[in-house]
Amino acid sequence: MAASRAKKSSGLQPIVGNDGRLYFNYGVGAVYALYGTAEEEIGKVTISACDYSERRGELYAVETLGGKKNIFTERPVTLERLSAHFSFCRAQEVMPGKAEEIPLLKSEVTAYYKGMESKRKRDAAAARIKLAETYPAFAGNEKAKKEAEAALADAEAAEDHVRVSKLIREYMQILGERKKACERAGIDVRIFEPVQKCPFCSGSGIRENGEICVCAWQNEDEIKRWNAARRLEEKFGREWALYVRDEGTQGTELTAADVLPEGGTNRLSDGS
Ligand SMILES: [Zn+2]
Repeated sequence: MAASRAKKSSGLQPIVGNDGRLYFNYGVGAVYALYGTAEEEIGKVTISACDYSERRGELYAVETLGGKKNIFTERPVTLERLSAHFSFCRAQEVMPGKAEEIPLLKSEVTAYYKGMESKRKRDAAAARIKLAETYPAFAGNEKAKKEAEAALADAEAAEDHVRVSKLIREYMQILGERKKACERAGIDVRIFEPVQKCPFCSGSGIRENGEICVCAWQNEDEIKRWNAARRLEEKFGREWALYVRDEGTQGTELTAADVLPEGGTNRLSDGS
């Protein structure tokens, strides 16, 4: 099991599925038989629901079957508590449950936003190199653009309208030259412009109050998929990551035999 848990410093972690996504350790609807010290069955329980909290991790509603006295009195039961109890009572799974995916995590949001930021920098650097081959004047153009912006701001502050309109004409010429050179090289000129940051989270994906920002929720699927690809890359190498990224995981049946090391097992059913 250890091989398929998400890496973190301590504590029990969600399962990393064969598709790279995070799943609850116990499937909903799963039934377990529990045993006492004399190896007699003391009852059967079922996982009736699961939930996730950033602070407490995986949480479960566990029902005792057959009208017997409740074995788990606390509600909800934490993953740590459930696993300890199951281990103590040598729980045997008698019916598999449905694998439930962990909801979007703050750590996934942060990783994605940081990843996008460095991708942007890498893309801009690569575009700069590509552009330099066909447009040697690019560095000069960038310098002229910055100077024109500063001069324009000064003229505007001084309310020198004649100078402002002259500078605007020059500025448009600089931008036009730059745009044409980029088009020739097959580069989107916007790669060199500062990115518009979300006003609610300043482009971090997490708001000041610690909540996931609405801009991240809007992009939930993409963030989930990006993180899944990142985990697969860590576990199985780059090809799997590219496979997930390009083909998507939608409708893709990845079995344990496909991706888990030989002899590896996954206690969850595939949930489909
Ligand atoms: Zn935001």
